[in-house]
Amino acid sequence: MTKKERFDFVISWFEQHVPEAETELLYDNPYELLVAVILSAQCTDKRVNMTTPAIFRRYPTVEKLSKASFDDLFPLIRSISYPNNKTKHLIGMAEKVVQDFHGEIPHTVAELMTLPGVGRKTANVITSVVDKQPNMAVDTHVFRVSARIGLTTHAKTPLQTELQLLKYIPEEKVHIAHHWIILHGRYICVARSPKCGECGLTPACKYYNTVVKKEVAKTSLRALPHQSTKK
Ligand code: SF4
Repeated sequence: MTKKERFDFVISWFEQHVPEAETELLYDNPYELLVAVILSAQCTDKRVNMTTPAIFRRYPTVEKLSKASFDDLFPLIRSISYPNNKTKHLIGMAEKVVQDFHGEIPHTVAELMTLPGVGRKTANVITSVVDKQPNMAVDTHVFRVSARIGLTTHAKTPLQTELQLLKYIPEEKVHIAHHWIILHGRYICVARSPKCGECGLTPACKYYNTVVKKEVAKTSLRALPHQSTKK
């Protein structure tokens, strides 16, 4: 199977079986999404969703958050990973949005990346979710699943994964492809033991057709009744 055929198979399978896919983070506007995505680094969406309602109640706008003190905000996010840094990042982000962008969350990757706590992955998530811009955010799931299926080859960094995926995924499908791959990695192609038996991508998956099939064949051979050579 060529790389293009593999991409075509995967995209059409997802289009057929997962026609709608979106972020599992709860938010009502770009400001809330940005807060949630900053908090989600090294943390589950579920945990973030348990935390953000109190933050949004106390700081309903970026202006309000820009005036927060560390001591007031910290207790609201102490149950999340890296609460110290994330408290500083959220306040710093809000201050910069107010000072440099008139209180509007910017719409480009380059502008977003000037904000504290916002790297390329976060900026790609915000722009693809808010405006459906063709930006592929590569997190641990996208990195792992893309390599397993064979959508990427020898990608060593998230940026290499991003560029290889963008080469083959049609521009208008990049924003949804990001969610397809993340959700697949979260629920089916999980890190330790991928659930290949429940996966519809087996015909195109490199890992399945090389590693898994061989393991299954070995196990079946071992299970055969022992044939004695003695006569
Ligand atoms: S076949 Fe297995 S390894 Fe391949 S994508 Fe599906 S779950 Fe992941």
